[in-house]
Amino acid sequence: MTLTQDLLKAAGRSRAWACYDCGKCTATCPVSRTGRDYSPRRHVLATVLGHEDEILSDGKIHACLTCSLCDQRCPAQVRYTDLMLLLREMAHREGVEPECPHGGALQSVMRMMAGGKTEQDRMGWMPSDLRADPEKGEVFYWTGCSMYYDAFFPELESRALRGTEAAVRALNRLGIVPVVSPRERCCGHDLLWNGDRASFERLAEHNVDLVAGSGAATLVVSCAECLRTWSIDYAPRFKGKAPRIVHISTYLLERLPDLRIAAREPLRVTYQDPCRLGRHLGIYDPPRELLAGIPGVELIEMRHARAAAGCCAGGTWSDCDRFAKQIQVSRLREARATGAEVLVTACPKCQIHFRCAMKDPKVGEEVQIEMRDLAEIVAEALAPNE
Ligand code: SF4
Ligand code: SF4
Ligand code: SF4
Repeated sequence: MTLTQDLLKAAGRSRAWACYDCGKCTATCPVSRTGRDYSPRRHVLATVLGHEDEILSDGKIHACLTCSLCDQRCPAQVRYTDLMLLLREMAHREGVEPECPHGGALQSVMRMMAGGKTEQDRMGWMPSDLRADPEKGEVFYWTGCSMYYDAFFPELESRALRGTEAAVRALNRLGIVPVVSPRERCCGHDLLWNGDRASFERLAEHNVDLVAGSGAATLVVSCAECLRTWSIDYAPRFKGKAPRIVHISTYLLERLPDLRIAAREPLRVTYQDPCRLGRHLGIYDPPRELLAGIPGVELIEMRHARAAAGCCAGGTWSDCDRFAKQIQVSRLREARATGAEVLVTACPKCQIHFRCAMKDPKVGEEVQIEMRDLAEIVAEALAPNE
């Protein structure tokens, strides 16, 4: 298939052909609003007109955060995020790669996992008082790459594993001994959104077989990006009946009385809707209802919340620059403006990118805020065992 044919196919699958050229997407886009020379409208137009050179050579194909904010505002229901996925696959085939922060080390680890020959230590983090089964069980808990993030970002005091540990602790409280597998591999989300479908496919095959082989009827996921991948990209790949794929907030909320939550010291929190959980999957209420179910916790919404929420601008470990920093700082200012003591997140990457922005010596005290994973807030409130 030629590049022009690829573009026409992408235009069909994303509805780019329906574009009115109104420019609402560009007016809405947080990247364009920073002043960066980037316009989703121009990419849509170039796709419809078959201008592959413009798309592949303007150096901006990886600037998009794939946050889906423009999709929400488009009057013609153009799915720009879907278009971006297809354009990046084309770009990857043509050798156009994103600029990867951290020397591309994260992508290298993901590709090592896709290769399948690397031995991993995925279980060393687990405290001895937690109960989990490495092979079989009714509920599979998906840890994602939290252990890698904490190892990669010690200077950011990344606390991804605290959220993972808290989630397993909460499941244990419900009497569940989840499968936590040493053979789990990266879900491939970032490689897919970087355009590397071949590596993604290898990871997808391995992970779907792993969960199917565990016999689990339910797959509980904390990371917003892993959840999107499982719900949209992986679910149709199960040969038999797929397990129920559910976010940790939804699962814990359904069994809130069984968690035996105790009243805690008053805590004012605000909540960051991760793009993948919110706009990609429409999950807005369960995290909020779970927080509301903890006596003592008060949720104060940021100016932009739910479908209008701002992004952590980390994208897929690509194109991180001063414009991304601008987006992060402006979101942190919103969080601080609520007067909340803690910014609660439901995605380990939101935490990492915001922590990184807070560590920047050029930003001041006015954007500093404590951050915790949603599951940590729940686990902290569990009544002691009698
Ligand atoms: S908002 Fe939709 S219709 Fe308007 S320019 Fe963007 S893609 Fe086209
Ligand atoms: S998905 Fe987000 S970052 Fe990308 S063009 Fe749309 S609004 Fe901008
Ligand atoms: S914001 Fe995120 S991607 Fe950018 S340098 Fe910091 S940790 Fe890396």
